[in-house]
Amino acid sequence: MNRRDFLTTATTASAALALSGCNDSNRQAIDYSKHPQKKDDNEVNGEAREGALGYKKRVNINKNKKIVIKLATSWPAHFPIMGTGVEKFAQRVKDVSGGSLEIKLYPKNVLVPALAVFDACSSGQIDAFHSGPYYWKGKNSAFSLYSGIPFGFTSEEINSWMLFGGGLELWREQYAKYNLHPFMGGNTNIQMGGWFRKPIGSIDDMQGLKMRVPGLGGEVLSKMGVNPILLPAGEIYTSLERGVIDATEWVGPALDIKMGFYKVAPYYYSGWHEPGSILELTFNKQFWNKLAFEHQSMIEVASSEMNSNMTYEFHAQNIHALKKLKELDISIQQFPKDVIEAGKKALKEVISDLSTKNKDFEKVFNSIDKHLSLSKEWSDASLRYFLNER
Ligand code: CA
Repeated sequence: MNRRDFLTTATTASAALALSGCNDSNRQAIDYSKHPQKKDDNEVNGEAREGALGYKKRVNINKNKKIVIKLATSWPAHFPIMGTGVEKFAQRVKDVSGGSLEIKLYPKNVLVPALAVFDACSSGQIDAFHSGPYYWKGKNSAFSLYSGIPFGFTSEEINSWMLFGGGLELWREQYAKYNLHPFMGGNTNIQMGGWFRKPIGSIDDMQGLKMRVPGLGGEVLSKMGVNPILLPAGEIYTSLERGVIDATEWVGPALDIKMGFYKVAPYYYSGWHEPGSILELTFNKQFWNKLAFEHQSMIEVASSEMNSNMTYEFHAQNIHALKKLKELDISIQQFPKDVIEAGKKALKEVISDLSTKNKDFEKVFNSIDKHLSLSKEWSDASLRYFLNER
């Protein structure tokens, strides 16, 4: 499938999805007056109960009122998995709220540029956005850690840190300074190391290599001698084809195959730089606080579904795309040992530099390190053993 075919297919498939979504006339609006909440559900010893995610439970039954949420994304309309996942989330919220919550989606550049969604939401121009926390490392380097770190958490491990290891509380505390309230909104799952025009035989082959790679991975590769370059998605293929860059990482087989990189840079490497990158669903904090508790709960449940569904959809699409790549004679390469050793050494230096410069970064990294060191022992004893033996 060439790129034009992919775009046509993706658009048609997504349009079909949107059209087949839901027939509103079949849905009844919820009549909350028939389901009064008991007083003691909301109070403990006369005090408002803390919700599961740390906000005070409020009784604010919301009937006969429709709320429209303006949500901008950093993805093109119907972008596979990330874009379509948000569309499914929006439909889900409409369904579970009986139509009293409507999410109006704005793909990238329609209302605000792809990477302006953070500021637009912070100022209240939009109510919410879907993007990735590492795009905002220029605001605070600590934010890159909420996407994960090289050689760090798998998607399962970062979810456990976020929900049960203090990650989400830290994230919300730091985003609150920007008038924002984040949720996990998906995970790309483990990413591939990227596409190279020439094979990598040793760390010497990485010296001066021009590679499109963002985030902390880019900073680590920079210390290893790579020249990291940021390019808009639409320019990567041509730059690779013309030799303007020597390599690029993107996501994984499912999205990479659609970009056609295999045609011009056929050496495809397993990855370590983005082992489980989190995507975010973030609200303007004032907007969030004004929502009825019931509506907050509906969004919380639907975002949790989006978070897991996106992870599983990446996995499901990756396995089929990998099969197709193998049919195209693309074999999966592994970086030589000296590259991995240089990567781990460079990561320590990057963490040390950023921790010295920014106390927020240090605080978040210490929380990650505490959870990750225990998680590694458990994952080695269970998952690593199992995968090696399977
Ligand atoms: Ca990537």
